[in-house]
Amino acid sequence: MHLLETRGLTHTYRGDVRALEGVNFVAGRKSRIAIIGPNGAGKSTLFKHFNGILKPTSGEVLIRGGEPITNENVREVRKFVGIVFQNPRRPDLLPTVEQDIAFGPINLGLDEATVAHRVEEALRLLGIEGLRERVPHHLSGGEKKRVAIAGILAMEPQVLVLDEPTAGLDPPGVADLVRFVNRLPEEYGMTVIFSTHHLDLVAEMADYVYVMDKGRVVGSGTVGEVFARPELLARTRLDVPPIPKLIRSLQENDVAIDMAYTYEDAKKAFLEAYARRR
Ligand code: ADP
Repeated sequence: MHLLETRGLTHTYRGDVRALEGVNFVAGRKSRIAIIGPNGAGKSTLFKHFNGILKPTSGEVLIRGGEPITNENVREVRKFVGIVFQNPRRPDLLPTVEQDIAFGPINLGLDEATVAHRVEEALRLLGIEGLRERVPHHLSGGEKKRVAIAGILAMEPQVLVLDEPTAGLDPPGVADLVRFVNRLPEEYGMTVIFSTHHLDLVAEMADYVYVMDKGRVVGSGTVGEVFARPELLARTRLDVPPIPKLIRSLQENDVAIDMAYTYEDAKKAFLEAYARRR
């Protein structure tokens, strides 16, 4: 069953800006999906259609195996699909991190005990129990990002959408995020959809990739399939990460080694190639 699907989704902003054109997208359960493409490709606009923030100019957005988003179910849809935008919502309105994270669940109309429980869970999951009394405004970029993710997770969505989740994070912050996000499908049955400008993040955090350019999906496939198409990657104007680049170059020099995209897979491939050689 498709948790989330768009069919022929087209969006024109006021001023005749065509931001999406005939986008077909599907996400199943427990999927890890990356959306890549240059600035202005339409990624954020697509995300805003995933939970009814925007309405299609034409085409449709379906959730839970075929249900269209309507004015009647849009509140339900927002529980089901949680989106963390790059610049977190409602900057600085609430005095503490704890209250900030509770904002979403309270708006869902949950009782106090359930809200408290969900806030605890979210603080724990993100490893930010120590921040609960802090003023959101005074947090570092990485801390703010975690609080924003915690606020969405506390609404227990089935689909978590992250718009450029590593923007503004330092390398340990990125590593933490990757570890954390990768637990969500297996441990919580969630589907994660994210956009990024970093292809190494795609390798670490996605199974399936959509490539967008000028409002259209110009290609999609598994990480291996997409990385094997340099002409497609060139449209994203992103650099091929060092690991597949190095392995491809070794293969071109007749070294018998399997392609790999992540650090762990590359290590395995190198060790196997080395063992075969001895
Ligand atoms: P991306 O997230 O891939 O950078 P966006 O979805 O933000 O792309 O933008 C797609 C296109 O829509 C761009 O041409 C952008 O200028 C335009 N756009 C985005 N938001 C608006 C808006 N609120 N009004 C008019 N045009 C917009």
